[in-house]
Amino acid sequence: MNPNRRKVLFIRWCTVAAALLFFSPQALLAARTVVTFAFDDGYADQLTGALILLNLGMRATFFIPTYAIGHTGDMSVTDLQNLQTLGFEIGGHTIDHQDLTTLSPSAQQNEICGGRTILENWGLNVVSFAYPDGAYNPSVEAVVKSCGYTSARAAWGLACKDPGCTPGESIPPVDPYAVRTPEAVTGDTTLADLEQQVINVEKSGGGWLPLQFHHVCEGCGQEYEITPENLEAFAAWVQQRASLGTTVETMNQVITYGANPPSPGRPRPRPLPRPRNPILLGHPSMVSSSDPEHNYVPLMSDQGQQQLQLMETNPSAALSHAVQVLSITP
Ligand SMILES: [Zn+2]
Repeated sequence: MNPNRRKVLFIRWCTVAAALLFFSPQALLAARTVVTFAFDDGYADQLTGALILLNLGMRATFFIPTYAIGHTGDMSVTDLQNLQTLGFEIGGHTIDHQDLTTLSPSAQQNEICGGRTILENWGLNVVSFAYPDGAYNPSVEAVVKSCGYTSARAAWGLACKDPGCTPGESIPPVDPYAVRTPEAVTGDTTLADLEQQVINVEKSGGGWLPLQFHHVCEGCGQEYEITPENLEAFAAWVQQRASLGTTVETMNQVITYGANPPSPGRPRPRPLPRPRNPILLGHPSMVSSSDPEHNYVPLMSDQGQQQLQLMETNPSAALSHAVQVLSITP
């Protein structure tokens, strides 16, 4: 063979080999960036966040301290069940939201296992945990594991303001019972801050960004809040990054599928359904009917036809509406 021809073939072989190496399942997995939306503490205003994500075809994890459920301003058991029916994940966050490192071993057991049992008795499948106020130590981690949880999220550990910082958690995490996260989103966190956190993980070669949110409200005077507008803008921006390999998954999806390359026997989780028309949630001032819980507003369909669509003014009712819509819209 002509030496030049041989050289060309060799270069081609090297290129193909390098490409195969680069695009091997492990390499693809390492390059993945996964964003998790996690909402802590069971506030009812988070249902607005659930609807925003649902309309984009995304799902989140809700970490629930069981004492809160059913009180004014907090979610109800039905809300939690509806969230699970829609494909959202419910995670454990103890019963009373106490600092677990200050409790006796039996009290830790009661808070961690007991909280999980209460959620399960409400018909919820619960495998992910988050430490109240991010407080844990090795003995707390051991109790979380013994209670049947497959992961536990801390409350900090990721940041990228300083040189040498760690922008993303590894997939799988270094310690699944100490999943690192940036500090919780506050009213001072801008849309640009959120986007930059994702970009930092992508630039570092991929990884997991479990974000923690609390209230979803506009001007509600909470320190830990995000406006519905910013949440929607951020989630829509993340959705645009799918072509770069950036996806949105729940805590359990990352723990279950993250460590294993997709294969015929272990496919990636199937995308969950998205309502054909968005589930609308409006401020009560936007509707004028005598029954303000239900009203219809004109909405332009994908085909450019104007149609009347139900607009709820109560997030719990909108969630129930979503359950009905998605059960008839595969
Ligand atoms: Zn909490």
